[in-house]
Amino acid sequence: MKQSQVLKTFLEYVQISSESRSEQAFATRLAEDLRKIGLRVETDKAGVKANANTGNLYAFLDGDPALEPILFSAHMDTVPPGKKIQPIVCDGVVHSSGDTVLGSDDKSGIAAIVEALHIVVEQNIPHRPVEVAFTISEEVGLLGAKALDYTRFSAKNAIVFDNEGDVGTIVNKAPGHVEILATITGKAAHAGVAPEEGISAIVVAAAAVNGMQLLRIDEETTANIGTLCAAGPNNIVPETIRFSAEVRSHNEQKLHRQCDQIVGCLQDACHRYGACLQYTIEPSYASYYIPESDPLIELLRSCCNAIGAPVSICSTGGGSDANVFNAHGMHAIVVGTGMEKIHGVSEYITVKNLENTQKLALELMKKQ
Ligand SMILES: [Zn+2]
Repeated sequence: MKQSQVLKTFLEYVQISSESRSEQAFATRLAEDLRKIGLRVETDKAGVKANANTGNLYAFLDGDPALEPILFSAHMDTVPPGKKIQPIVCDGVVHSSGDTVLGSDDKSGIAAIVEALHIVVEQNIPHRPVEVAFTISEEVGLLGAKALDYTRFSAKNAIVFDNEGDVGTIVNKAPGHVEILATITGKAAHAGVAPEEGISAIVVAAAAVNGMQLLRIDEETTANIGTLCAAGPNNIVPETIRFSAEVRSHNEQKLHRQCDQIVGCLQDACHRYGACLQYTIEPSYASYYIPESDPLIELLRSCCNAIGAPVSICSTGGGSDANVFNAHGMHAIVVGTGMEKIHGVSEYITVKNLENTQKLALELMKKQ
């Protein structure tokens, strides 16, 4: 069977390795492809901040100035194992040879955007001004999106092609995420000779954790301790313990309240036992919620209808570049490209979803 152009492009793209922080070869190829189509391409110094070997890619295509510009985004990096990916197409499904990921997260989005641009220019289809942001190092903490220069964009609306679920999946709600890192310092002492002279950091931490609300807090909020770590000989009262936890919530207020609850428990316990507390609260990304009546969702809905993709509006428990875009004042929504079983070697995507992602991107660019 004859392969569609978006499938061909996708198969080429996944064979260019681009694990997080090593996106350079792929970024160079994308810059070439976008320039060939006729876009103005720029890059930035985000790689320095992210400790990656290249920066984010920006591309711009002029369009009908009477129409609202739109930003399309996807990330260039993949999770490991992502080197020497050999894609296999079988019965309308693309998967890897079994020892790597496929990279449809997120090259399905990238191939679809590039090929939609290709069609719009080649067939001279009237279209909006289109802006593109292909980010680096999304998988290791949304680092590219966090270092993106938002002043280069005139678009207020962004579509991020980076979610599981068939084309037609629209994610209008994603939680915010905060990390709490703490060290409790007590006082070392000989555990047999003079334990009363010591302050056990483990005892302090246990008292703190005992008061914490954890795991499922409510339907919008979760909290989890990932690390509680002290290791020493049994004959010394332990002086320090390391603690790290995360909180997620769809509601910013609840996110902060939950952080305060956890930090409050740490402070109370340290105060009670005379231990020292050092802590930082690191916001990873903010939550977002875009109501179903929003014009951007209306636009997505009508474009999905136009290509015959059933619409499903849903929320996610994870974060993506869209969280960062929204925090920078953009109106960003993540959509499904059909990538499935991502972050593992059984990752796959159907050819139909690949083609539909490209059709959706094209529909969104077109003058409505
Ligand atoms: Zn992704």
